Amino acid sequence: MGTGARALLVRSRGCPRAAGPRTSSRGLRPPLPPLPCLSLLLLAAPGVRAAGYETCPTVQPDMLNVHLVAHTHDDVGWLKTVDQYYYGTKVDYQHAGVQYILDSVISALLADPTRRFIYVEIAFFSRWWHQQTNATQEIVRELVRQGRLEFANGGWVMNDEAATHYGAIVDQMTLGLRFLEDTFGNDGRPRVAWHIDPFGHSREQASLFSQMGFDGFFLGRLDYQDKLERKEMQEMEQLWRASASLRPPIADLFTGVLPNMYNPPKHLCWDVLCVDGPVVEDPQSPEYNAKDLVNYFLHLALLQSQHYRTNHTVMTMGSDFQYENANMWFKNLDKLIRLVNAQQQANGSSVNVLYSTPACYLWELNKANLTWSVKHDDFFPYADGPHMFWTGYFTSRPALKRYERLSYNFLQVCNQLEALAGPAANVGPYGSGNSAPLNEAMAVLQHHDAVSGTSRQHVAYDYARQLAAGWRPCEVLLSNALAWLRGSKEDFTFCPNLNISICPLSQQVESFQVTVYNPLARKVDWMVRLPVRKGIFLVRDPNSRTVQSSVVVTPSTEKKDHSELLFSVSVPALGFSVYSVALLTRRDPQVHTPKPRPKKSLFHILTIENEYIRAKFSPQTGLLVEIENMEKNLLLPVQQAFFWYNASVGDRISSQVSGAYIFRPSRQQPLPVSRWAQIQLVKTALVQELHQNFSAWCSQVVRLYPGQRHLELEWTVGPIPVGDSWGKEVISRFDTSLETDGVFYTDSNGREILERRRDYRPTWNLNQTEPVAGNYYPVNTRIYITDGKVQLTVLTDRSQGGSSLRDGSLELMVHRRLVKDDGRGVGEPLLESGSGAWVRGRHLVLLDTVQTAAAGHRLLAEKEVLAPQVVLSRGGGALYNLRAAPRKQFSGLHRELPPSVHLLTLARWGPEMLLLRLEHQFAVGEDSLRNLSSPVTLDLRDMFSAFTITGLQETTLAANQPRATASRLKWRPNTGPTPRSPYLLDPAAVTLQPMEIRTFLASVQWNKNG
Ligand SMILES: [Zn+2]
Repeated sequence: MGTGARALLVRSRGCPRAAGPRTSSRGLRPPLPPLPCLSLLLLAAPGVRAAGYETCPTVQPDMLNVHLVAHTHDDVGWLKTVDQYYYGTKVDYQHAGVQYILDSVISALLADPTRRFIYVEIAFFSRWWHQQTNATQEIVRELVRQGRLEFANGGWVMNDEAATHYGAIVDQMTLGLRFLEDTFGNDGRPRVAWHIDPFGHSREQASLFSQMGFDGFFLGRLDYQDKLERKEMQEMEQLWRASASLRPPIADLFTGVLPNMYNPPKHLCWDVLCVDGPVVEDPQSPEYNAKDLVNYFLHLALLQSQHYRTNHTVMTMGSDFQYENANMWFKNLDKLIRLVNAQQQANGSSVNVLYSTPACYLWELNKANLTWSVKHDDFFPYADGPHMFWTGYFTSRPALKRYERLSYNFLQVCNQLEALAGPAANVGPYGSGNSAPLNEAMAVLQHHDAVSGTSRQHVAYDYARQLAAGWRPCEVLLSNALAWLRGSKEDFTFCPNLNISICPLSQQVESFQVTVYNPLARKVDWMVRLPVRKGIFLVRDPNSRTVQSSVVVTPSTEKKDHSELLFSVSVPALGFSVYSVALLTRRDPQVHTPKPRPKKSLFHILTIENEYIRAKFSPQTGLLVEIENMEKNLLLPVQQAFFWYNASVGDRISSQVSGAYIFRPSRQQPLPVSRWAQIQLVKTALVQELHQNFSAWCSQVVRLYPGQRHLELEWTVGPIPVGDSWGKEVISRFDTSLETDGVFYTDSNGREILERRRDYRPTWNLNQTEPVAGNYYPVNTRIYITDGKVQLTVLTDRSQGGSSLRDGSLELMVHRRLVKDDGRGVGEPLLESGSGAWVRGRHLVLLDTVQTAAAGHRLLAEKEVLAPQVVLSRGGGALYNLRAAPRKQFSGLHRELPPSVHLLTLARWGPEMLLLRLEHQFAVGEDSLRNLSSPVTLDLRDMFSAFTITGLQETTLAANQPRATASRLKWRPNTGPTPRSPYLLDPAAVTLQPMEIRTFLASVQWNKNG
């Protein structure tokens, strides 16, 4: 941070000029406005009209203008890995080489100034950029400045919308947009979001795009029935009101459906990957076709324009990995444009065709100044024909989906500790710590063939490899930061296999320390479970007080018992607590081993319970039959069991099979995995568990810890047997007596909630062809049902598909293994046989009143997504700083944040700059009893204990433009005007409205000694 910010600390009266355009280096950015100057500066900012359209081509106001958008769609991994696609290796898998595409496009753009091209995937573009000479970079900068090369979307990847968590979407967009901002400044900032391939579209994605400042959004895939109706009604373009809580127009996003997904019109594909013939305009040539082509094009343009409301229409000229020989495309497009426009003079044609871009097309739509209809729901599920619902990928590759979600958790811990410890996190006793590799790997994982589970197997392995490679420099960073903040250099060990009870240190050593870091802005109580050798242990808290602990022994498959040490930890907000564990004696009469069900219990109800919850199981079947919330005096019969759908391999009605993308059961009724479970009961002071074994490949532990207001179901499924050649899609189903009237609720990317109604779509008359698959929706964090009084909520630990196919029932698909390919390009059956075959996960079940349910599921979901990080060490490490005593407890906050506020991001942005996002995590009206849905006001000036904020700037959601000067195109909804309120930032009183996220760049000074 430069001198400007330091001056503030001595209460300088002079306010520096507002931040100007950014330079390309992180370190050389202009200083942020110091705190006292903020309100003045930002109040003075005028509400200017969105800029960025000055370079758009001229159109013909009295004609039909056809905007040709030359583009390539470059998947960040699918049939080939990211590197195989970039370099163009493995031609036998797919002919695709992104480096050649960019080389070729730049040359072709230089050959003719009227040509335009858009590029989208920054994961590829940034890699290519760094391999260019200064001279080439200068040329590209000029092309960008002139609008001839335009960036659309600008995320690291074009992310999936069904299996992604909003936090990870925001992170990946921030990474890509930051590259563009750093490299090209305002010229490179995308105005248009461009999700032409994701398989259905979430409402939250539109809300996030809107909050990032995009002027519009174009998509390619939507339900075939929806599309047909929209074409008839001229509703291909609309205003999407993407939040039920945010005040319009904050989450209003102009949204256009492209006419032909993202492909060129039939017969007009001029790529090496296509078979269409070139334009031949020499009438002497036997190959002459220009006249026919022009007539065909004019016919096509007029036909297409009938479904749109303005005298502008768009054609996407490109597709997957096209433009490797860009000259071929552009040469034919040049000719087409010349020939078609010549008809205006020759034959009085009213069609004008031009090179354009999505932003320039959008700009013309905006200038048309029409009133647009408003959409409130989303675009799920997606079907591209009868019996073809893309609802399988909501669950496909559940192990990868969990690894991705766990990596999100770890990345936030890594980011936070990098922010809290400052430079000591990056360079320290353990080497160079770095959050960037995991940040990039996580961004790649958001791609619509990555976390979606729709890539080839070898590519899925490569995604996992990238995550693993990202974890390592973060582990170094964590060690550096924890040593710095603790004041002692310990031999930190990470135990990534705790989910399968493996941790060499705790299993081999007789005494060790457990450092638990809590990434939430509130204190957390958490049950630590560590695999240990048998014995009695003494556990002490940070104040050396003895903590209650117990050892549970569970039989394992290798005939070797697993002993687990349990103790409850309490960790302050954004901080850590250090617990010490010592083995007292190897003999222990108190060890708790699960007891097989006693004979007499055949006549007794089996229960597990704590002070809030009681769960009952049938002694005949071993299945869950009832949940009681004793605190709220609610009792609900709930039957839970596992079933499987037999995957269709095609039938007389449709040849469609179930595959990586598509879910199609052969029969609508699933089969039970087992009608009963072998059970074992564990009861100690610290846990009560019922172990259920349904089959060789399906088991579950139903669990209650003291103080827990939810029931935890830890299921283990796989490898799913397919030796009978039957693909199987396994669900966990909860059946209750709740009268739910066909309605259920699912979250949108882990944030706002959408109402779902069986066999129904809010905006068109659905002809339901698949009563099961056609009612499946993405569940990122939760699904619930209610009768208006009682609510049953199930939280997931990763994205899954879910539904309510009968009143009172809800189901989640936990795993699937299929023997056929579903014909959507991946060309492989989803037959995971390696590390993805065996999957363990958790469902957290809440039984609550409707009035208090949101408080329960919002806070629990937050705790799941940002779970504490457990780090072990032997203890007795050397002092970090001889003058400072080591500490066993630390909080990065001076005081906890209120429960409505989620600390979404705390990360390093530059040498002395941090990125901070604060989010109101409740929706309007969601919590009426405890007031958690009310606006909250925070004082940012003295919030953090590890550093002092010396300057602050609020930005749009992806941090690529100051909020004060950001402006978006204005659109007129048919619901009436949406007045914009004036913008003001007072760091002493930052107010968050329900579901609002506010993003800040803060210049900081770290405190000495952490
Ligand atoms: Zn794609």
